[in-house]
Amino acid sequence: MTKNQENLLLNNQDSCPVCLGNGVAEIRNCWDFLKEKQRTETNCIWTYFRCFTCKSLWLHSQPDRSQIAICYDFDYMTHAAPQKPLEPPSGLRSKLIFNLKLAYLSEILGYTSVAEKFPIQSLYKNLVHLLKHFSPARAYLGDLVRHVPYKNGGRLLDLGCGNGSYLLLMRELGWQVVGIEPDKLAYQQATEQNLEVQSLSLEEIDFPPHSFDAITMSHVFEHLYNPQETVRKLTQLLKPGGILVSISPNPQSFNTCKFQRYWRGLEPPRHLSIPSIAGYQHLSSLVGGICHISTSTKLFRFLYRDSMSIKKIGSPGGNYSWQTAQALEPLILLWSLLDQKIGDEIIFSLTCQTSPSSTRES
Ligand SMILES: [Zn+2]
Repeated sequence: MTKNQENLLLNNQDSCPVCLGNGVAEIRNCWDFLKEKQRTETNCIWTYFRCFTCKSLWLHSQPDRSQIAICYDFDYMTHAAPQKPLEPPSGLRSKLIFNLKLAYLSEILGYTSVAEKFPIQSLYKNLVHLLKHFSPARAYLGDLVRHVPYKNGGRLLDLGCGNGSYLLLMRELGWQVVGIEPDKLAYQQATEQNLEVQSLSLEEIDFPPHSFDAITMSHVFEHLYNPQETVRKLTQLLKPGGILVSISPNPQSFNTCKFQRYWRGLEPPRHLSIPSIAGYQHLSSLVGGICHISTSTKLFRFLYRDSMSIKKIGSPGGNYSWQTAQALEPLILLWSLLDQKIGDEIIFSLTCQTSPSSTRES
């Protein structure tokens, strides 16, 4: 164990946390671009290793668990009030996409209550039956519910639920919802919406086995210490036939390759391991079940702009290269049809066997 200049206790993680394979230092001299805002001569201390086997990235010197709260001890989360669920947007393009998403929920993912609230024209219904055959289209259209198919009377757990916007939506769509949120202010915002939320870390959660029909994590998995232990623990909480969904940055995306240490998806020292497609496949093989992995280019232009800002001024938030990003976006979308590895987010879903398996029980 060593200490950095902030007296943070650090432990070296020498093997890939996702598959336990070996790797090599690939992205060096990274800094905490959210907390420190600027690159200085002394703060470029973080190194990400790339796994030879599964191509995941991981932070080599990791803050000790006992001190990880220090790394979030700033205005880390935006504490905006939760959004109202299913508020129709203004603007023609936004309305078209919104209607397509509603049709997708109703026709493909089984959310029949959506059609009762919003009459859906047959044009949209026909379109989504066509679009469902294309992975990038599915990644866009199912994102409201994080690709979780509807289950009547189902119970859903969202880890890192923030202010509870997603839980409010899922509750409106008929799920019984539970959230976990360690950030005190976000937890308070969620509880003000009469949501059932616990203010805990993942290590502290304690539910009986087979408690949930769905467990979701959006940009949470990369913050966790032990990916293998996490997947084992969460799949044990799922009922037979239940689904685990994790959405996280793709460490092999176009933006990762282009921006390297300026890539917005790194975020040291909070992003501890960033599983690749093969990494998620390995994790699913540990627990069994049916694994489905796709990528999304939905965040491409935002990540391009933020990564360029990190390169120019040391932190995200500057408005750099927005037009370039917008011009590149359709090309990246087309490219992702041929090679899904370049998408910015990985959408991992794992459906447990319909009868409790020996692998999950052991
Ligand atoms: Zn690996």
